[in-house]
Amino acid sequence: MAAQREWFEKDYYAVLGVSKEASDKEITKAYRRLARQYHPDANPGDAAAEEKFKEVSAAYDVIGDATKRAEYDEVRRVGPMGGFGGAQNFNFDVGGEGLGDLFGQMFGGRGRRGGGSAGPQRGADISSTLTLSFEEAAHGLTTTLHLTADAQCSSCAGSGARPGTSPKACSACGGRGSVSDNQGFFSFSSPCRSCGGQGRVIEYPCSTCRGSGIEHRPREVNVRIPAGVNDGQRIRLKGRGAPGRNSGPAGDLFVECHVLPHPVFAREGLNLLVRVPVTFTEAVLGSTITVPTLDGGDVSLRLKAGTQSGSRHRVKGKGISTAKQTGDLIVTVDVHVPTNLSDKEREAIEALHGVLESPRTTPADAKGRS
Ligand SMILES: [Zn+2]
Ligand SMILES: [Zn+2]
Repeated sequence: MAAQREWFEKDYYAVLGVSKEASDKEITKAYRRLARQYHPDANPGDAAAEEKFKEVSAAYDVIGDATKRAEYDEVRRVGPMGGFGGAQNFNFDVGGEGLGDLFGQMFGGRGRRGGGSAGPQRGADISSTLTLSFEEAAHGLTTTLHLTADAQCSSCAGSGARPGTSPKACSACGGRGSVSDNQGFFSFSSPCRSCGGQGRVIEYPCSTCRGSGIEHRPREVNVRIPAGVNDGQRIRLKGRGAPGRNSGPAGDLFVECHVLPHPVFAREGLNLLVRVPVTFTEAVLGSTITVPTLDGGDVSLRLKAGTQSGSRHRVKGKGISTAKQTGDLIVTVDVHVPTNLSDKEREAIEALHGVLESPRTTPADAKGRS
């Protein structure tokens, strides 16, 4: 997540001084030039140069790698996975289109959309399922989902241009995506018809995606499942669905979680439930018993004299921990009724039987007997 936030905040293209549509070759060339320029060997003792060298290397690490670059572009477009901690300004690039809409509303359709296809379109939502062990659901995990869905084209990294070529700035609008039209005192702005408001045109479309920048292909998505997910719960990963078109935001990825049962523990919200057998005498006389926890360690639980079978006892803080709260471990005591008694045991229990009052004795009987 930290990496994604960093990605969202840093313009690696600007660091390397290349355009967002730059080819792999152009990026590598820019990196080599800057790396030579700021290399510590060439600038001994120059902290600023060293800092710059690190920045350039970090940028190349990401956008010099086709897979990382595609992910980076996605993050830059829709924000880090899981959204932001607080209110942030999303900076969607709507090109000349937003302006066109605005003027369209003000001046009766003057700046209408060029055929409807130019506007930013949000990508589709994608669903996937994930089966988790009981422990994984309790603790949360980071895993890789393998899914086949619409994704950024792997051949052109979503640019839509044949590898080795780049979309070029539209000559009709100078790359602005909108054209101005002077009418008396006013200057109206409308989307450029030549490029559909995109500001760029693709001369040689990528053959894999036919210029759309989107390819239906298997892909891997790293997901973080928070601690404490329930069976059947759907986790929404914002912006991890299919990529949008024309600078539109990506759709969301929904992951439905299936949680497998555990042989010993059950769950009730964030509380863990466990049943522990105790002997008849432990229940009658009271005792300290050992109770297993999900993390593997044992905890001690003090039972009072006269503990009833089926009674529930709370061990604070030994349930499931989320960022917000921690559940308890709820221990249900099962009093074990012995079978196959030895002669000695039988004698002792028969003696006990003689002195114990029947639980079915009524209060009136009890009074009469004393
Ligand atoms: Zn244009
Ligand atoms: Zn492509």
